[in-house]
Amino acid sequence: MPRKQQDPSADEQRGAEAPECQHQQHDSRNDDRDSDAVQDFVPRVGVLVVVLRHVLREGRHGDLLGARFYFFCHSAVHFLPFLAALCASVSLWLPFSFDAAAPLCHHLAPERLRISFRISILASGSSGNSTLLETERTTLLIDAGLGRREITRRFEALGRPLPERVDAILITHEHTDHSSAAAQLARLWDCPAYLTEPTHREIVKMFAEEPDKPGPKATIERVEYIRAGERFQIGDIEVNPFRIPHDAADPVAFSFRTNGTKVAVATDLGYMPELVKQHLREADFLILESNHDLEMLKVGPYPWHIKQRVMSRTGHLSNNIVSDFLADADVFDARARHLVLAHLSEQNNTPDLAQISAEQALAARAADFAFRGSLHIASQRVPLGPFEL
Ligand SMILES: [Zn+2]
Ligand SMILES: [Zn+2]
Repeated sequence: MPRKQQDPSADEQRGAEAPECQHQQHDSRNDDRDSDAVQDFVPRVGVLVVVLRHVLREGRHGDLLGARFYFFCHSAVHFLPFLAALCASVSLWLPFSFDAAAPLCHHLAPERLRISFRISILASGSSGNSTLLETERTTLLIDAGLGRREITRRFEALGRPLPERVDAILITHEHTDHSSAAAQLARLWDCPAYLTEPTHREIVKMFAEEPDKPGPKATIERVEYIRAGERFQIGDIEVNPFRIPHDAADPVAFSFRTNGTKVAVATDLGYMPELVKQHLREADFLILESNHDLEMLKVGPYPWHIKQRVMSRTGHLSNNIVSDFLADADVFDARARHLVLAHLSEQNNTPDLAQISAEQALAARAADFAFRGSLHIASQRVPLGPFEL
């Protein structure tokens, strides 16, 4: 079971620590180790020279060594002090750090560039949602609305193969655009699915072949139950599920933290309650639904009851609601380096409308609270990313 903790907001009080500091520390440590390496190397050569001189003295008297070994030692005695002096001198004179003993020593393996998160939005919209969230140690898939074949295609479009390992699949709610491939992908990666118990029950019901026969689409082999407001850890990622207003059994959105960096993903919600706004605070990367343009929805092709559902407080966020949120410096802190508008309706919105609406809202903020990140639009058909934080 995941480690669970109460108090959903306490974690967000933690200050961000700049991961860059680790690079600086690493560099200065390297400098120290380089000079240590030179200091180690010279005495070692000295000891070797003393030993070889002893061997030579004995060898000259004829009874310890053969002529060939005598010749090798004779050459080494002259060569090694020269090599030691050369390495030490070059190391001291060069304007940059140099590890004179690298060929002889074990240390200083190159360190990978550190990132906190890598985020790839594979698809976003009412025909399928999936986002991959990676750290150096952990890989999570948020929602499973694309089957194996399509998700493979999305990765190929990003220039990479399907990941060999995914540690967990997180499901926000049971609607098919978020859950249809949960069982299939959990089997593919042999990983657990994290979801609430009511969401799981609905998935089993929706995808069962017959009432008493769930079948493969309804059978998620490893299930971990989660609850809104209870944090848990997967690898080096802290996951924080929080409740959202949507017409599903027990829908949640998520925020994630690692290395003092926060990612928040909130789609499929009818409005933005105070709790949701709190959970989006301090996000360095924010994926937020901007589902429909109200005018397009009203005159669009949907039947009236569906229009009402989409517009309701358990439906989807309109461009207008998102604009109100983005313009208000009291609720949106504008810390995000990337803001992604997601889950756009293909019938009732266009990328341009959503983008213009958000840009106007962001432009209306006072200069002191300006949004200095970049704005992106996620698509149903084309993957977006990867973004590195
Ligand atoms: Zn959806
Ligand atoms: Zn939904």
